[in-house]
Amino acid sequence: MTPADALRHADRPVSAYVYSRAALRSAAARVRAALPPGATLLYAVKANGHPDVVATLAAATDGLEVASGGELALAIAAGATRIAFGGPAKTDQELHDGVRAGALIHVESILELRRLDAIAARLGLRATAALRVNRAVAGPDGSHRMTGTPTPFGIDEAALDEAFAVPLRAVDLRGFHLHAVSNSLDATAYAAFVAGAITWSAATAAAHGLDLRYVNVGGGLGVSYTDPSTIDLNVLRERLAAVPVPPGVDLVFEPGRLLAADAGWYAAEVVDLKRTHGRWFAVLRGGTHHFRLPAAWGYSHPFTVMPMDGDEVWPWPFDRPSVEGVSVDAVGELCTPRDVLARDVPVSRVRVGDVLVFARTGAYGWDISHHDFLRHPHPQLIVV
Ligand SMILES: *Cc1c(COP(=O)(O)O)cnc(C)c1O
Repeated sequence: MTPADALRHADRPVSAYVYSRAALRSAAARVRAALPPGATLLYAVKANGHPDVVATLAAATDGLEVASGGELALAIAAGATRIAFGGPAKTDQELHDGVRAGALIHVESILELRRLDAIAARLGLRATAALRVNRAVAGPDGSHRMTGTPTPFGIDEAALDEAFAVPLRAVDLRGFHLHAVSNSLDATAYAAFVAGAITWSAATAAAHGLDLRYVNVGGGLGVSYTDPSTIDLNVLRERLAAVPVPPGVDLVFEPGRLLAADAGWYAAEVVDLKRTHGRWFAVLRGGTHHFRLPAAWGYSHPFTVMPMDGDEVWPWPFDRPSVEGVSVDAVGELCTPRDVLARDVPVSRVRVGDVLVFARTGAYGWDISHHDFLRHPHPQLIVV
């Protein structure tokens, strides 16, 4: 079934996410083709933790990156062959479970390194780990910066001497985790960041007597939310092909957004059409409690109108409200003027009962939204 067919058969009034396994697999293949041969591709589960999405991408990539005990449990249930475990506030229980699961731990602080060593020793196991470092220099431009600036993530580059002085009994330290950016759209800058990450890791490992076997450059491969472009994967492939990877080093990428974004559609039925103070509003069975990203980032998410017809769509004896050739604000059902998905969007026609379909919502859509504000029913989650 296609995503559009699934929406045509969705429960009414329509309020649904559709995720496509085929689209997830093709995104994984496209990203894989842009990476250097032999590089490792993990999926960052936080972009979309739906169990079917996680299982599909676990099979289509080399494994999963998780950032909580909940995501770790999802990754284990999905049968991931490799798991990397990050996150700045891991509890003792989470470290324990991560070590037991054989996950490679991205260590976010010196205290965490000491706790990990003690926990692995107590289990009689050897933990594999990499130090997450907040480097002195910033990564490429994007929507958020995680490095080269004060953040709660990773160990400050200036504190690495202290980190390497921690006596380790039960941790096999393999290298570094250098996730630096979110939603980078500049393939040339991203490739330069990868090259710099490898050079920096080799020099830093040599300076501290570390046998370097792991360089994780994180995620951050971007998609545009205002036009159909993404980071240019052809340019990325060409530029990355020229980056030397030292022998024996596992170069790891862990994107979330680019793997999941185009595999999801959010759809919401128009339940009312109204004009106040000269402005048209399409009021939806849904809103920012299902899809928070446009409100969080302050942009209008593009949509298409899916016309719906039939007696079950319009059972009433009175006229069905309809507007043509106007601009509308697509707003949700919450009692706040901030519940806006898109503003001032020209539509050729929209009627009550039609469905607005927001593409590119498979990543950071449902997962980051405040589901229970106002206690409306959750959207249907449909996987095709
Ligand atoms: C969020 C995150 C990712 C995924 O980032 P995308 O921008 O979705 O590619 C990867 N690694 C870490 C450590 C993250 O926090």
